[in-house]
Amino acid sequence: MTLAIHDTLSGEKRPFTPRDPSRVTMYVCGPTVYNFAHIGNARPVVVFDTLFRLLRQTYGEGAVIYARNITDVDDKINQAAIDQGVPISVITDRFTDAYHADMDALGALRPTIEPRATAHIDAMLAMIGRLIENKAAYAAEGHVLFDTQAFPDYGKLSGRSIDDMIAGARVEVAPYKRHPADFVLWKPSKPGEPEWPSAWGAGRPGWHLECSAMVETTLGLPIDIHGGGHDLIFPHHENEIAQSRCADHAPVYANYWMHNGFLTMDAEKMSKSLGNVLLVHDLIKQVPGEAIRWALLSAHYRAPLDWTGDLLVQSRKSLDGLYGALQDANTLLGENDYDPEVWDQPQVAAKLTAIRDALEDDLNTPRAIAGLFELSKALRALLNDAGEREALNQIGLYRDALVAAGSLLGFLQVDPETWFQGGADDDLKTKVEALLQARIEARKAKDWPTADRIRDELNALNVVVMDNPEGATWRLADSAG
Ligand code: AMP
Ligand code: ZN
Repeated sequence: MTLAIHDTLSGEKRPFTPRDPSRVTMYVCGPTVYNFAHIGNARPVVVFDTLFRLLRQTYGEGAVIYARNITDVDDKINQAAIDQGVPISVITDRFTDAYHADMDALGALRPTIEPRATAHIDAMLAMIGRLIENKAAYAAEGHVLFDTQAFPDYGKLSGRSIDDMIAGARVEVAPYKRHPADFVLWKPSKPGEPEWPSAWGAGRPGWHLECSAMVETTLGLPIDIHGGGHDLIFPHHENEIAQSRCADHAPVYANYWMHNGFLTMDAEKMSKSLGNVLLVHDLIKQVPGEAIRWALLSAHYRAPLDWTGDLLVQSRKSLDGLYGALQDANTLLGENDYDPEVWDQPQVAAKLTAIRDALEDDLNTPRAIAGLFELSKALRALLNDAGEREALNQIGLYRDALVAAGSLLGFLQVDPETWFQGGADDDLKTKVEALLQARIEARKAKDWPTADRIRDELNALNVVVMDNPEGATWRLADSAG
């Protein structure tokens, strides 16, 4: 199968053909760094990370260029700096670092390029110059505005007519606009806000222009894939298309447009303005990032995803099941050799192909996750009647296949031990290891009362001990939530 993507612009699922298979380009709108990211903001990150992984596997790691910007000039950033009485860079640096740490914890690979808006002001000014020259923009009262009347395709992405936009009051009316739908490319800064000199007066760029300029500078037009949340279709992406196409007389800005659905709580979109947010920063202190990633990928990316506590508990339990099978396989295989020619085994290969096919079918992660369960079920069945040399080979093959398939989705990449002990701090780990060692000594000396007492002590620490022929492994008892 080959990758097919639902493209918002055509409204169809289309086979994916990159412009140049040795240089596949993807741009995803990144965070405005004035606050911690909430779990809704993490949805596009995890979704497009999964696509990034799939593209890398298809075209080669070096062949995929993924750019995700940092918006570090914005009214909300300015306000946060004023509120906290610190320079703007203190806010943007702090929340860029936090964003990286949080998204790393969700297993998201860093993008290839992470352009910051403030480092591309020259490109934005040059673009404004070309837009004015091409009669698609005009200066008025210290502002420069995009002239929506100059672009007949305006509204094609969102399927809105300009009249709809006005009726829906989605546009800001201002006296200096020729048409209510015209939007800002450049505007004067308020006192104390960052500003840059320009031919149209000192000021700062509009948000939409930032992405257009960064797409052009970092990737070049047209790009293959442009992504973001559903809320960005209008006006943000509509405006990006208008600017970029008019500045360069370009017939196409992005060949495929992908938008993830909203993450909701109690059927309402999670958003900072509604105040119903769960921060990734807080959540990763309570549950492993991998369980959050699992929850985020448990629904198809275009469907809404309702966030509940139960979803997270179930996600963690699912991962417990898969890691449990891996752990048992590791214990059984131990130092044993097995024949690793996994790709030659038709049954394993078919299961792996099914997972890849699911992802290639417009990133169908629920189906891919079902495929992981299939692999793990097969591995579990083999473990249940292990013993034969033949079975050891099979177990090795299925274990490796499960880890390989997991990596495509960003799962199962830590040691099972680490997974089960996740949440235990270093002090606890040291203590448990010492108790386990003492228990081994006691058992060797046939000192059963001491061995039992140590087991009680471990239980009191919420630790479950699993004995096996090579010794013992342990896990935290409440790992499933
Ligand atoms: P923002 O910082 O609000 O510009 O959002 C950053 C990214 O998160 C954008 O791609 C948004 O579309 C996306 N996003 C924001 N809220 C949600 C949500 N509740 N569900 C899914 N995606 C969201
Ligand atoms: Zn953008």
